[in-house]
Amino acid sequence: MSIQEHTFDYIIVGAGSAGCVLANRLTEDGKHSVLLLETGGSDKSIFIQMPTALSIPMNTKKYAWQFETEPEPYLDNRRMHCPRGKVLGGSSSINGMVYARGHARDFDEWQQSGAEGWDYQHCLPYFRKAETWAFGGDTYRGDSGPLGVNNGNQMQNPLYQAFINAGVEAGYFNTSDYNGAQQEGFGPMHMTIKGGRRCSTANAYLRPAMSRSNLMLVTHALVHKVQLEDKKAVGVIYEQGGRTHTARVNREVILSAGSIGSPHLLQLSGIGDPELLAKAGIALEHALPGVGKNLQDHLEFYFQFRCLQPVSLNRKLGWWSRLKIGTRWILKKDGLGATNHFESCGFIRSKAGVEWPDLQYHFLPAAMRYDGKEAFDGDGFQLHIGHNKPQSRGSVDIVSADPHQPPRIQFNYLQEEADREGFRACVRLTREIINQSAMDLSGGVKFSQDWTYKAMSRSMPLSVVPSKVLTTPPAPAKWVLMRWPLLIRKPVSMVCKD
Ligand SMILES: Cc1cc2nc3c(=O)[nH]c(=O)nc-3n(C[C@H](O)[C@H](O)[C@H](O)COP(=O)(O)OP(=O)(O)OC[C@H]3O[C@@H](n4cnc5c(N)ncnc54)[C@H](O)[C@@H]3O)c2cc1C
Repeated sequence: MSIQEHTFDYIIVGAGSAGCVLANRLTEDGKHSVLLLETGGSDKSIFIQMPTALSIPMNTKKYAWQFETEPEPYLDNRRMHCPRGKVLGGSSSINGMVYARGHARDFDEWQQSGAEGWDYQHCLPYFRKAETWAFGGDTYRGDSGPLGVNNGNQMQNPLYQAFINAGVEAGYFNTSDYNGAQQEGFGPMHMTIKGGRRCSTANAYLRPAMSRSNLMLVTHALVHKVQLEDKKAVGVIYEQGGRTHTARVNREVILSAGSIGSPHLLQLSGIGDPELLAKAGIALEHALPGVGKNLQDHLEFYFQFRCLQPVSLNRKLGWWSRLKIGTRWILKKDGLGATNHFESCGFIRSKAGVEWPDLQYHFLPAAMRYDGKEAFDGDGFQLHIGHNKPQSRGSVDIVSADPHQPPRIQFNYLQEEADREGFRACVRLTREIINQSAMDLSGGVKFSQDWTYKAMSRSMPLSVVPSKVLTTPPAPAKWVLMRWPLLIRKPVSMVCKD
């Protein structure tokens, strides 16, 4: 039977993090038929499945939408790369695999803001249900869910513990499980990896559901629009194999096309700000000016340091080492291939009066670009830090009725003074932590104090943030700094307000 002749109970657009979970759950009891449409294709690639290769899929057109922002006015008009997954598993197949649920108070705050049932007490059972934590279940952690979570390679590199010790020496807590009773502090980091493989939602949720006769998956399918009758979603129009298809729905069309894709698709369907739609040549179906608004993301900086002892992972970046790591992973699914290398972390507060942590560290025992495009020559390590509660807001705006044309994306990073203040705190507090003696001698490791100048002279767009926005006193000692204030990682946008 062709899809056109069939009406599904549910149509899910996008087989990403959310879409794969929904496809599994909605077909579980066998009572409902589901059509899952995904623009990307198969995730069967060593670059997706082997965790250490994480920088490759995010830079590969086949696996990721290679969006670019408009010039960001508060980042010296720099355009930022904004990859999003375009493959089974969506962004969970190209992401950094860091498993951080969020602070309990974040969820309580949602509830206080009106999201009934989204407080921590209500969410915790679902976190536990979803997870199999490698070290067993307890009040907070799950032990029989589809999503495998572990802590990588067990912090074998001495730099991981040195960083935790430095945090404790600077006066912060030590936390053994930041996804458990206490987020705040420094400790080992957790990642969505199972049996040495990336545990994307395609692996965790979609694969186990693929044999169900009530689930139909169509890949390489670009949904053009949601069809509406009297403002009710009744189906979708999509393109696949050079042809246009329609599919009808009995119950719901679910948009899980991501923070860029979902608002863009609503706008393509005539749902959004009337003025914006008119400019793009789209007939208005339903005026909802909030669609695409409130786009937000958390920016992250990294600080890089030279390491004087020959212990960092920079020495594992040569082709021979990579071959050995890859071969071991293929044969045994363990070793340095089976980790994202962010094995220690910290959650701290930026200032007095902040009620729960708003800054997050990831520690990497190598100095390189997150996207893998450039690495430091010699031993080095780096600290990533981000301000988790940015106030700056941007938008996703359609510019053309052609579904192949990307929307205009602008985050307005660092527009709000509170965000700039947060990043100033990041600089100051990172200096304090890195100047602790644990970073000098822990594990027999000695760190250079002279790297600043090298970083500066080798640097790429250094102008971006520090000089203009982060006006701090001159660095007292070691290093620094912020060569590639990168990351666009978890954009969130509005699809349904108004
Ligand atoms: C580089 C990177 C690193 C990250 N690192 C981390 C991390 O370490 N830890 C963490 O917790 N989070 C991380 N994230 C964020 C996290 O991965 C995302 O928040 C999450 O995957 C988003 O899920 P989603 O279901 O909303 O969208 P996605 O998973 O992006 O899925 C959307 C899917 O919809 C498809 N789609 C879009 N438009 C259409 C259309 N018109 N027709 C058909 N299909 C369509 C896409 O191809 C995609 O597969 C990272 C994200 C990125 C990009």
